[in-house]
Amino acid sequence: MQQQTIKHPVQCSGVGLHSGKMVNMALRPADEDSGINFYVFTPEGSQRIVPEPAHVIATGLATTIGTSRASISTVEHLMAAILGLGIDNLRIDVHGGELPIMDGSAAPFVMLLNGAGIKKQTAARKVLRIAKPINHTQGEKSIYAEPYDGFFVDYTIDFAHPLIGVQNLALEITPQTFSEIAKARTFGFFKEVEYLYSRGLALGGSLDNSVVLDEHGVLNQEGLRFSDEFVRHKLLDFIGDMAMINLPLQGRFTVHCSGHTLNNQFLRVLDENRAIYLEEIVLDVPAYTHRKNEKDRAEERKGNELRNDPVNDPVPVL
Ligand SMILES: [Zn+2]
Repeated sequence: MQQQTIKHPVQCSGVGLHSGKMVNMALRPADEDSGINFYVFTPEGSQRIVPEPAHVIATGLATTIGTSRASISTVEHLMAAILGLGIDNLRIDVHGGELPIMDGSAAPFVMLLNGAGIKKQTAARKVLRIAKPINHTQGEKSIYAEPYDGFFVDYTIDFAHPLIGVQNLALEITPQTFSEIAKARTFGFFKEVEYLYSRGLALGGSLDNSVVLDEHGVLNQEGLRFSDEFVRHKLLDFIGDMAMINLPLQGRFTVHCSGHTLNNQFLRVLDENRAIYLEEIVLDVPAYTHRKNEKDRAEERKGNELRNDPVNDPVPVL
């Protein structure tokens, strides 16, 4: 399996969740083995930030990555789209210190990346595979990871709310299945929103970019996009948080009631104990490519057979 980047630069702008101001972002093709790199532009110049577990500096409202000199917020939905679509190398230029929140889901970023076109590169893809089972828990929250040839997430949430309750979704993450969860929006509770506003936080948050719940139901007039939109979005966040390491992760993850904070703690444990829990693997030619080639060859043979069969020859209309 080869590494991938995008064919053409693309850009978008929108409201930032934290500041409420317009922010701008550009995505650019990048060289093989260069990975995902953010460049934050400030009046003092540009600063590179690499998404890695130790660079996640805040997980309260959204995920923020940074160094001592610059930071960028609300990166998790774009990172989920990058990992979900199988993009290995990308340069992300950011003006405004945070990414646009768009509609609160990853769907606009999927559209943007697909619009840029996905380009196969020559070098083989490298991944970090879970080498040994690991269980990370904090109270009732837990993440269990075990070796698996792919990226499989089994996610359960349990909210004491009449519209949410217990929701579960178990999915092999591929570019096809990712599109099923990319549209799920971030959600919050009205009483939390009031508190955030009162503290001057989440100034860009609105019903245009989040599902807001009161004690009984959803305040958004259009309602939900899926009956299980909540667990879909938590799974989306998990994918984005697991993308904050230098290579795509492979494993089977069973997640219970986690969030950005526990996700990052877990990733830090993996990163700090790479020799025990992770192995770097080069995906030369994956099994499914063999199967696909075999299927293609079978269809070619079938096509040839049809062409050799005079009954199926097209008859010109006179
Ligand atoms: Zn989210």
